[in-house]
Amino acid sequence: MKRKTAVVTGGSRGIGRAVAVGFAKAGCNLVINYAGNDEAAKETERLCSAEGAKVVLVKGDVADSTCAERIVEAAVAEFGQIDILVNNAGITRDNILIRIEEEDFDKVIETNLKGTYLMMKACARHMIRKRSGRIINMASVVGIAGNAGQANYSASKAGVIGLTKSFAREVASRSITVNAVAPGFIDTDMTRDMTEQAKENAAKQIPAGRLGSAEEVAAAVLFLASDSAKYITGHVLNVDGGMCM
Ligand code: NAP
Repeated sequence: MKRKTAVVTGGSRGIGRAVAVGFAKAGCNLVINYAGNDEAAKETERLCSAEGAKVVLVKGDVADSTCAERIVEAAVAEFGQIDILVNNAGITRDNILIRIEEEDFDKVIETNLKGTYLMMKACARHMIRKRSGRIINMASVVGIAGNAGQANYSASKAGVIGLTKSFAREVASRSITVNAVAPGFIDTDMTRDMTEQAKENAAKQIPAGRLGSAEEVAAAVLFLASDSAKYITGHVLNVDGGMCM
């Protein structure tokens, strides 16, 4: 993957940071988007630069189409190409369905689902022109199995899987692969707010008996972005310690 350009949304923390650092170690240059946490984004930049990568940070909301355009413009201006897109930015606004506020429903769908659509649309133009590309979308096992207390989030991730499979069919003939990674419970800021009891209960549902790490998810993303995965498209790869099978 030497000198390839990887765009990673939500790359300031958690899984996105591990993915960015993984690409940097593999020899890629990076465009890293994040929502607002400048300090965390600079730390990701520092970690990637230490691996020899050139890094451009783009702050902005992936649900805003002008942000997707800015990310693509930055990538093309700095590196002249986009080889890999990882749609990782995501949020939760958990509650049982009858208590989910309309605003929280919309926010989760806009960030997780619309953001993925906007970024794929903006990047695909360049990938189609050069007849190659790798797109990896961050789904979740709850997008497959559902989860009480996460109807909005599960719907957004089920939507991401639908987007992935549809777009995979549309661009396969141009040598562009579109796949999803579906993590289970991963130890990041997103799950750190859970009580110890909730984490213990979660671990009981996982055959591997523990939460996963951001690096374990990043390894799956790197595989799908690699040459070894060039005949894999429209696939959802669970990284969940056996939670959903
Ligand atoms: P995280 O630690 O909370 O990090 C979220 C990242 O997304 C941050 O970089 C954040 O930027 C960015 N972000 C949030 N809203 C954004 C927006 N509107 N525009 C651009 N960037 C935005 O989350 P994580 O656990 O690493 O999760 C990463 C992805 O994996 C998400 O799609 C999530 O749904 C999925 N996932 C996570 C788990 C899990 O157990 N952790 C399980 C399944 C799926 P700032 O730092 O600037 O806020």
